[in-house]
Amino acid sequence: MSAHDPNCIFCKIVAGQIPSKKVHEDEDILVFHDINPWAPVHFLMVPKQHIASMAQVGPEHERLMGRMLTLAPRLALEQGCNPYPEGGFRIVCNTGAEGGQEVQHLHIHVMGGPRPWLRG
Ligand code: AMP
Ligand code: ZN
Repeated sequence: MSAHDPNCIFCKIVAGQIPSKKVHEDEDILVFHDINPWAPVHFLMVPKQHIASMAQVGPEHERLMGRMLTLAPRLALEQGCNPYPEGGFRIVCNTGAEGGQEVQHLHIHVMGGPRPWLRG
């Protein structure tokens, strides 16, 4: 598995070759708004390293996956999700064809905001 896949749209976003509306960036993680949101708040969290999906995740990714998940609640509030329990958010990680994954670079959807949503 290479760190970057030249044909991968999210690797291109990480490299700055395709623009995105950035929410957060650190050494390992990039977070940006979904281009086609289906909730008032909808952003994607991706590892900067190219990992195709959750199916490729192993023990070596424990810290990275832990950091992504623990970052989500703070960013959700900052982006306008209402506080728990009346508010909250939804975390989705589509994996593989039968899991509904369209972009083959691991990404965690975080969605929230007042109902109704376009989907979900
Ligand atoms: P999935 O079906 O889980 O693979 O979702 C892929 C998501 O990536 C979809 O919600 C798309 O709207 C989103 N997406 C695709 N291209 C871009 C892009 N250039 N910038 C931001 N989001 C994107
Ligand atoms: Zn990639």
